[in-house]
Amino acid sequence: MRYAIISDIHSNLEAFRSVLGVIDSSSVDNIICLGDIVGYGADPNECVEIIKSRNISSLIGNHDRAACGLTEPAGFNPAARQAALWTRSELTDENKDYLKNLPGEDVVDGFMIVHGAPSDPDKYILSAHDAAPEFQHLKNRSLCFFGHTHVSVAYSLSDGRVSSSRERVCSIRDGVSYLINPGSVGQPRDRDPRASFVIYDDRGEAEFRRVEYAVEIARKKIIDSGLDRFLGERLTVGY
Ligand code: ZN
Repeated sequence: MRYAIISDIHSNLEAFRSVLGVIDSSSVDNIICLGDIVGYGADPNECVEIIKSRNISSLIGNHDRAACGLTEPAGFNPAARQAALWTRSELTDENKDYLKNLPGEDVVDGFMIVHGAPSDPDKYILSAHDAAPEFQHLKNRSLCFFGHTHVSVAYSLSDGRVSSSRERVCSIRDGVSYLINPGSVGQPRDRDPRASFVIYDDRGEAEFRRVEYAVEIARKKIIDSGLDRFLGERLTVGY
């Protein structure tokens, strides 16, 4: 089986469509989203509707929870908070209900998927040091995909040692555990503005992919929607 693992779309329709275009020509059997479908960008309803119409299994992310009213964006920075409340006012009731019913974590065909970290959906795994304790929470699985940081990376645990890799291909080996972040479709933060995702082949390989998209259109839509200018500008630098 070949899976496309996507995360953190953040209402960026241009990036999402471009990624789906690549996925559709990559012999993928199943698309899985790790959450944060909405928040930050200008097209929340359109992005939720694509997830629904294509039957993409998705988790709920912290921005989805705030946008559908399950939580208040109290801990968000001002631009993120404004975007969450704007998204809440834009989303149809039907799309809010859809988001509310998404699971917080899941196990798919033997691997685990979470938004932030296996121990806590809101935790950021930003380093091998952050990743190390998370390997104890994999529920007897040896592979987990996570998002939330918007930075693509693979952490592995082998012989008690955790290491990180940003190689394009991560080989999945027996006896080693993996925590893999596909990066963000709609708001990459690793100084590469291209949309990021992973193709995981269960014969033993996870491949990081980057996709160019119409950043300028997404940027302009954010500014024209009255969202914080910074949310548009950061797309152009991928940070
Ligand atoms: Zn996010």
